[in-house]
Amino acid sequence: MINFLIGLGAVFGGAILGSFTTMLVHRLHYDETGIWGGRSRCPQCRHVLGILQLIPVFSWLFQRGKCAFCKKKIPYFYPLTELVFITTFFLFVQKFYSTDVFYPLLIAVFFLLVIFIYDVRFMEVDRRISFPAIGLALIWSFFRELSFQEYLIGGGIGFLFYFVQFFYSRKKEHPWVGEGDIELGLLCGLLLGWKYFLVMLFLAYILGVFYALPLLFLGKANAKTALPMGAFLMPAILAFLYAGENIFSWYINMLGISF
Ligand SMILES: [Zn+2]
Repeated sequence: MINFLIGLGAVFGGAILGSFTTMLVHRLHYDETGIWGGRSRCPQCRHVLGILQLIPVFSWLFQRGKCAFCKKKIPYFYPLTELVFITTFFLFVQKFYSTDVFYPLLIAVFFLLVIFIYDVRFMEVDRRISFPAIGLALIWSFFRELSFQEYLIGGGIGFLFYFVQFFYSRKKEHPWVGEGDIELGLLCGLLLGWKYFLVMLFLAYILGVFYALPLLFLGKANAKTALPMGAFLMPAILAFLYAGENIFSWYINMLGISF
């Protein structure tokens, strides 16, 4: 019963945060005022939404993907964002609600999802999100299961990995790494610690290759097409926060290394 209520709370909370995030990234990207206040509006006609239009996922389904006022299509991005939040929060709450890391972990998950959604939608990393996330991850690293050095070294490696690439590609016509990726590298390293971070990085790139190969074959991309790195890093880091130990030992076993 308790589990059921907690699961329900997670779904409910995830839906609200997902809905909030669609609005947040929109307002940050277009530099609209009133991130924390103001009413939610239709992304197309800017009509203020009523209570019936604010029910995550369901409003979209009932209105058949159209705005109740202007009847224009509401992009899949909106209900999908809410679904991503609901699923992720459900999984993390179920697994961690009775542990010490519950609250800091949920905060980290929230920030990572916002960065993920933002990067998928606009292909950029917003400092108003990434800097607070890095600050919180830094503070958290002093109170965690491993010694804080593990996390700081992780952050350092993440920072350097992207900084070097950024430095060498910045003068090129198509730099393959943006400044935002340096921030993401730092954040991921801080959150995972250096061991998990290195394996995570590798897996995130494999994920990226699986995404890019079909596009290359179909001629929809070439070597110069920018990939939103955050879009691959974020699912990988979420997977590691969720089951890092399992993934790590699976990977190590596969390589046949023993520690
Ligand atoms: Zn509308």
